[in-house]
Amino acid sequence: MNIIWFKNDLRYTDHPAMAMASATGKPALCVYIIEPNRWAQPDMSDRHYDFLRASIIDLNTQLVAHYQRLYVFWGEAVDIFNHLHQQITISALFSHQETGNLWTYRRDNEIALWASIHGITWHQPPQNGVIRRLRNRDGWARAWQDYMTQPPAPTIIPPHPQGLLITDHTPPPTIQTAQTRIQAMQPAGHAIAMQYLESFLGTRSQSYSTDMSSPITGETACSRLSPYLAIGTLSLRQVYQRTLLQVHTLNNAPPSPAITAHKRSIRAFMSRLQWHCHFIQKYEDDPRIEYQSLHSAYRHLDDMEHDPDWFAAWATGCTGFPFVDACMRFLIHHGWLNFRMRAMMVSVGVHHLQLAWTQCAHHLARLFTDYEPGIHYSQCQMQAGRTGINTIRIYNPIKQGYDQDPDGTFIRRWLPELASVPNSGIHEPWYYGHAKPLVDEKIARKNASSRLYAIRKTAGFTDEAQRIYIKHGSRKNRSATNSKKRP
Ligand SMILES: Cc1cc2nc3c(=O)[nH]c(=O)nc-3n(C[C@H](O)[C@H](O)[C@H](O)COP(=O)(O)OP(=O)(O)OC[C@H]3O[C@@H](n4cnc5c(N)ncnc54)[C@H](O)[C@@H]3O)c2cc1C
Repeated sequence: MNIIWFKNDLRYTDHPAMAMASATGKPALCVYIIEPNRWAQPDMSDRHYDFLRASIIDLNTQLVAHYQRLYVFWGEAVDIFNHLHQQITISALFSHQETGNLWTYRRDNEIALWASIHGITWHQPPQNGVIRRLRNRDGWARAWQDYMTQPPAPTIIPPHPQGLLITDHTPPPTIQTAQTRIQAMQPAGHAIAMQYLESFLGTRSQSYSTDMSSPITGETACSRLSPYLAIGTLSLRQVYQRTLLQVHTLNNAPPSPAITAHKRSIRAFMSRLQWHCHFIQKYEDDPRIEYQSLHSAYRHLDDMEHDPDWFAAWATGCTGFPFVDACMRFLIHHGWLNFRMRAMMVSVGVHHLQLAWTQCAHHLARLFTDYEPGIHYSQCQMQAGRTGINTIRIYNPIKQGYDQDPDGTFIRRWLPELASVPNSGIHEPWYYGHAKPLVDEKIARKNASSRLYAIRKTAGFTDEAQRIYIKHGSRKNRSATNSKKRP
């Protein structure tokens, strides 16, 4: 019997692994495994679990409507497969290539060994534009485009095996740790994800390119598709191809400034769909990105001692920088933050407060419902200035506040303690009797900049940066250390 092992691909359309299993003509057992050791890792949290649980329940409902179902098991993958193999004799295993975290990479190695010992073929087709065993980035963008424009995998659901008696955990139990439990979780499931996609492409995207930078306007102007893409409710190809239809509609609409602006926004969105895979590809090519600075010149800073009180202040939104604290509290509440503010949070943590980037990354990973390791660690390293190939950006959090929240509406909403501060002082309330931030912004930024640029001047830095660029750099960049363009 075949097993379809669901991972971060909780859908049954454009599901190449399922299509491959169906093509064998055999019945298949659809399986999801909740692995306790994975959930004990420092990047995982109960808000991820809640979203996963709701997504599993939704997928199971859809499969049941097609005379299939999703079996949920609780245990380590090798133990579960051993257990299943004793009961049903597995002939082949089908799952998508996973670019998860270091833990899932090691677990996959274990499963590969287990499968080969038992003579079971493990088929692992890709489910996005990330390429396994890539030699370098030349031609990568073209290959990505080719994948995204190919027809989706055919939707053929293999039959459920007859007369099967297996005890499982569908629906998965709720868990009660409540440490990072979210108050306003985005709802999970296919129908909801489609609603987000349609409302974005139809109307919300009209001002995407101008409104994405502020957490206030970004909340609705951004697609908010990230949790669905991370868990695989929708494939990236489905989103891309639906977006192409929207491009077609806009191209056929009577020209107007509004249509031109909308087209610009859709173009910006499509670039980001490619960035999605661009960043995961970095991690696929070098899983050390999760815990080690990409450029070795920064590695002595990886596990540096930091002030635990400052870390706690940053992590809970109590640094004294109003806009930073408001963003952190918003994130704790919603499980989502727009790109620019994510970048600012890392920048303030690592540069101004000199916190270890790895610990900042784990904290944010636990808070993001859309946690996607490949994007997350690559972005955290980039914002922490650890790649050696990107422009060093140190955000001034006070200026960001003036730019993105000029009258302080957002700050007042999330920091009730500042409710009575007048607009003129909301970004620098220490002039109105409130506590000063943990550090002097200007001095901290200058010190961080000097530290990072001094490292860039060390012998051999540029040679290594060039090697990193060849392996990981977007071919749109002009040179290894000089690019001003993201990603
Ligand atoms: C420090 C840091 C950590 C991040 N961690 C994650 C993460 O764990 N998971 C995650 O999905 N994104 C992450 N991002 C990227 C980005 O902030 C989010 O993808 C985006 O905010 C999600 O909201 P959205 O779906 O409304 O995005 P939209 O702006 O609507 O973009 C659509 C999709 O494009 C992709 N995308 C958008 N921006 C980027 C980007 N800069 N890099 C790569 N892909 C992008 C995402 O898949 C996103 O869902 C991180 C960014 C930073 C700076």
